Order: sequence, then structure tokens, then C-alpha cells
Amino acid sequence: MKSGKEQSLRRYHPWIFSGAIKEIKGSLVEGDMVDVYSNNEEFLGTGHYAGGSIAVRILSFEPVNDIRDLFIKRITAAIDYRKRIGLVDNHETNAFRLINAEGDGLPGLVVDYYNGLVVTQCHSVGMLKEIDMIKEGLKIVFGRKLTSVIDRSESTIPARFLPGADAHEQLPEIEKKEITENGNRFYVDLNEGQKTGFYIDQRENRKLLGSCSEGRSVLNLFGYTGGFSIYAIRGGARLVHTVDSSSIAIDLARENVKLNFGDIKLHQAFSEDVSEFLQKAKETYDLVISDPPAFAKHQRALENALQGYKRLNTRIFEVISPGGIVFTFSCSQVVSRENFRKSIFAAAANAGRQIKIMHQLSQPPDHPVSIYHPEGEYLKGLVLYVE
Ligand code: SAH
Repeated sequence: MKSGKEQSLRRYHPWIFSGAIKEIKGSLVEGDMVDVYSNNEEFLGTGHYAGGSIAVRILSFEPVNDIRDLFIKRITAAIDYRKRIGLVDNHETNAFRLINAEGDGLPGLVVDYYNGLVVTQCHSVGMLKEIDMIKEGLKIVFGRKLTSVIDRSESTIPARFLPGADAHEQLPEIEKKEITENGNRFYVDLNEGQKTGFYIDQRENRKLLGSCSEGRSVLNLFGYTGGFSIYAIRGGARLVHTVDSSSIAIDLARENVKLNFGDIKLHQAFSEDVSEFLQKAKETYDLVISDPPAFAKHQRALENALQGYKRLNTRIFEVISPGGIVFTFSCSQVVSRENFRKSIFAAAANAGRQIKIMHQLSQPPDHPVSIYHPEGEYLKGLVLYVE
């Protein structure tokens, strides 16, 4: 590394940006394992090399003798942590994040557990190269409780790095898996669903939403497969509207309502663009949830993203009844808590409403953030009381 650029590594930050590299010895291809040294040739860490702006993701700040052993240890530690926080063998909840990348010392790897079945998703080619070892490690640590492992890296890794078509044929038949979350039942589409199938990161926030729903009319924007809607109905909402542009998600939202409550009339699902829906909305609602996809995927898009949150929330403050509650989220990593709050502030002022912050929300403990890697904190939410 260039002189002085090793400071962040000494504080255990696991990313090395390409500009910090002084020299690469030997020829490297995407995903190779590399050792990193300071300008004074001191060992700093071992990690996966990538051609992008994050050039190395550090797996260990100590020399690694046996990479398989390192993976088994990290997987074991991740499962132990979930056991300690009560997520394993929990009767109310059988879906949780098992490995949260940097937060569990495995940058580039996400693993979600869905009621006996595990879905892996790699965010670096280096991790994808280890996938067989990771699958084996998961089976060793879990034992017979694990029925199968599916890899869903096709949406996160460029096609040229993915295994050939043959590998895909081995996918298990299961497409929809039933899970339970805080006692609510959901079908998860494991093959076609977004992310690894379900937005597990909203589990705690959905619970809070449920407790605010009694007697309210609820609008769930960007509702996906109805996560917040099910909790709202369970919590005693008198009407729930779910809006999402994906018709596959909306069909599953309808199925999920039926799975929990049978044929009920108080829920309606709309496969529509949120802006269009809000544009023509005539009625007002007592509770609105807004959980859009990341508006900014990189720093350059930040300004537009903040404008996007402002515009969306301004419109929400126009359709919320007096005494209504808004759950509004941002899952963009590059949008800070402070910036998100400022854009909501601007929206509130635009709409001319008096607003109190009731809760500031984040991601649940199975999506832990390494204290050395604040970038891992991506989910931000505000619960607002609108006078
Ligand atoms: N709240 C959901 C997760 C939302 S993810 C849950 O708890 O499960 C964001 C969702 O927004 C995705 O389902 C995506 O299909 C949807 N989406 C993206 N752009 C949209 C748009 N312009 N209008 C409506 N839905 C949109």
C-alpha cells in the first residue's frame, strides 16, 4: 500500500480502495486471494481482490494458514451469535440473516436462513469462488437441520463469472418456501424473489408497525409481498392497501394475506407505480409505510436520491390524515441518517404539516454492523406523527 494509506486497515476497516495501492506483485485476476503489505513491508491482512474501486475486501487481519478453517470459524461464530440473540430454534420466527457480510467478518457474503433452507448471495467474485467451501461449511455447522443451500448470486455477480448452465440445473425444485416471522406466515419465492427472497431486515420494524395499526386505514407503498400489510391486518387495521410495481410480488402479497387470514375484504393489492398511485389517490390514510428500493447505489447519485425522498414524502404528507402516522425508510447505503432526515424535513416543510418524530429505526441485530465499518449501516427509518 502507499505510505500512510494503511491507517484505516490498522483500525480494522476491511476495504482497500484502488487508489491506496502502490504496487501489485504478480498478475491478479478478479477474485484472487491476496496478502496486503504496508509501504514498509509489514503484513496488514489477507483478502479478495477485485478490479473495481474497492480493490481488496479483507477477510483476516492475521496471516491465514488454512482458509477453510477460517471460513468454518466465521460461520460458527455467526451462528453462535444468532443463537445468543434468540433467533435459532425460535417458534415465532424461523427466517433470519445468518451471515451479514462485513458485520460477520465475511465481506461480500450474505446468507439468509429460511426455515431449514439457506440462500447464499455473493457480492464479490472472490466469495463466489469460495462458494462450495461455504456451502460445505454451512452443512457441517448446521448438521441435519439444514435441508438445502441455494445460491442466488446471479443478480449480484456479472454473468461471465457465474458457473455454467449445468450448475443451475441442480437447483432444488422448491420455489416457494413458507416461513414464520413473529408468528405471521409468508411464502417466500426463493428462485425469482428479490434479494434472497424476502426483506428480512424489516422484521422488527414490521412488529412496531403492527402495534400502531389498530383501527387505522393503512397504505403500504413499495409493499413487495405484503410484509408490513400482514402485520397491519394482524394489528387490527380496518383497511389495508398494498402498492408495488412488481405484479409477481403483488400476487404473492395476495397469497400471503390469504395464508394468514383466509378470504378477507379489507385488503386490496395494486400492481402499480407508486408515484402514479399517489398522483390519483383521492382518499387519505391514517398510516402510510414507504419502503422504496435504494434511490442511490453510489455517491454520484446522492443528490438525486435526496430529491427523490423529498418528492415522495411530500406527496405522502399530502395523503396522510391529521393524527396519522408515517413509517418512512431509506435503504441506500450512501444516504446518511442525517441526510435522510433533512430530506424528510424539507418534505414536511413543503407540505406545511406539523410533524413529531416518534421513533428512529434501523436494521435488526441479525444484520449487525461492524463498529469498524459504519458503511454497513444502510437501513434508516423514521416513524412520524403528523398533526
Ligand atoms: N417493504 C417491503 C420491501 C420493499 S423493497 C417488505 O417489507 O417486504 C422495494 C419494493 O419496491 C420492491 O418490491 C419493488 O418491486 C418496488 N418498487 C420499485 N420501484 C417501484 C415503483 N416506482 N413503484 C412501485 N413499486 C416499486
